[in-house]
Amino acid sequence: MSEDTRRAGDVGLMQHWLLTVDKILTHAAHWHGCAELASREPDGSISRTTYAAIERRARQLSSALLAGGVARGDRIATLAMNTARHVEAWYAIAGIGAVCHTLNPRLFDDQLHYIINHAADRWIIADPAFAPILERLLPGCPCVERVVYLGDAPAATAGGVPAVGYESLIAGQSTDCRWGDFDETAAAGLCYTSGTTGNPKGVLYSHRSQVLHTLITCTAAAFGITSRDTVLMVVPMFHANAWGIPFSATSMGAKLVLPGFRLDGASVYELLEGESVTFSAAVPTVWQLLLDYMIANRLRLTTLKRVLIGGSACPESLIRTFADEHGVEVVHGWGMTEMSPLGTASTPSSEVAKLPEATRHALQLKQGRVFFGVDMKITDDEGRGLPHDGAQQGHIKVKGPCVIDRYFRAEDVDVLDADGYFDTGDIGTIDRYGFMQITDRAKDLIKSGGEWISSVEIENIAACHPKALMAAVIGIPHPKWRERPLLLVKLRPGQHATPEEFLGYLDGKIAGWWMPDAVVFVEEMPLGATGKLDKKRLRASFAGGAAG
Ligand code: AMP
Repeated sequence: MSEDTRRAGDVGLMQHWLLTVDKILTHAAHWHGCAELASREPDGSISRTTYAAIERRARQLSSALLAGGVARGDRIATLAMNTARHVEAWYAIAGIGAVCHTLNPRLFDDQLHYIINHAADRWIIADPAFAPILERLLPGCPCVERVVYLGDAPAATAGGVPAVGYESLIAGQSTDCRWGDFDETAAAGLCYTSGTTGNPKGVLYSHRSQVLHTLITCTAAAFGITSRDTVLMVVPMFHANAWGIPFSATSMGAKLVLPGFRLDGASVYELLEGESVTFSAAVPTVWQLLLDYMIANRLRLTTLKRVLIGGSACPESLIRTFADEHGVEVVHGWGMTEMSPLGTASTPSSEVAKLPEATRHALQLKQGRVFFGVDMKITDDEGRGLPHDGAQQGHIKVKGPCVIDRYFRAEDVDVLDADGYFDTGDIGTIDRYGFMQITDRAKDLIKSGGEWISSVEIENIAACHPKALMAAVIGIPHPKWRERPLLLVKLRPGQHATPEEFLGYLDGKIAGWWMPDAVVFVEEMPLGATGKLDKKRLRASFAGGAAG
């Protein structure tokens, strides 16, 4: 008898059906075998396949991994954009009990170097376009034994490591490779998250946590994906597991559209319309690029029904443009790598649905409510619980089957409080409707005269100034108040502005004592590897004050 059913007969219960991610693709192949995956190839063309086909090919890759000596628990890395082959690789690796470690190609070399060695990755499965990264890195990564290129291998070696093309590797391999049959608490995936200080930290997902995250996020409170949806997976698979979409869309047998390398407004628009996409998820920047492109070219969206926007705060202008001009419902979501990643969504509860439109719109701007499977609390600095009154800001802490317990290979460092909650590092409120709102990041707070100022809130308002492309607020030292806010603005191309224009724009919208002491116009905003504002670098640049 297999692991899957072994314990059931003994105690007169339900079957012990192990929650392992391979079952997701097996289900899709059996019951939605003809459902399509459309991938953007590097040359811009669209290739098409089905769940039935990628399951067969994934099992062939599993066979090749086993033949190459890959064993349970081994880390196999991917360095790739969103394509059908990348999806195959995920299931092939996890299906045999190895761990799929998604590498973020946007990280700096020294971070990638640290991550590959820390994870002790044995193989790296990479897009050929990333060959130069591997050439630079692999001489310093003795753990890596083999490189597999998701296409033709540009050379027989990569940084001194033997390299092979994906198609030649899987050709002739068995399609019957057995998947699963190991404990559901076994590791399935690994993702590193950049800390604000120090080295990146590894978040190791179990099969059970990923299957539960899939079930949780497929509900109407979150993604609400069904087999009738066509899902454009814009958020990269190396960024917090593409928010779990390779699992959730597959579990539903939804058509999956994979954008490859092209995430610009024109390419995303072409996929949305050309593939009749109904649902998508991405960070605000991607949507802003799309809307800018559509406005410039007087285009409309005809099939998209719902988008999940998260990763950073969603500006009101984005929600309004999607809703009012294109009839697209925006769900604002929040989460983090350590949470698999989704924790909340702004989907209205029945109580909220009955509220006046203006109140509902205001709530939609918040990060939203938790789902079953995520416990959340806010606490003061001493860990005492704060009320859900929408006013008191505190540390947001979470607990659940998809929340981290310890970082990978840092098992001796406790990251939970006495009640088992993980501190997200975010600061926020929870209102009487259960809507959580991020007001800041813990390390980002500006504490002025003992009181907190929300840099995020000032930024969000300043970013709505018609001349602003991006806005950032950081704390700068002040002899009396310890810290005061500084507003940094990157103007739209061709625009000129004075500090007074921005201060006047903020006047009346924020408390007087929140008013930035100075406004500085910058040519460039430093962005981190995932496209988010790098406040650490900004703070370092302005450590001496507004003069920089
Ligand atoms: P990551 O692990 O890279 O996905 O980053 C997670 C962090 O991004 C969270 O802890 C938040 O600080 C931030 N974040 C994610 N979603 C949102 C959101 N909707 N609004 C504001 N911040 C967000």
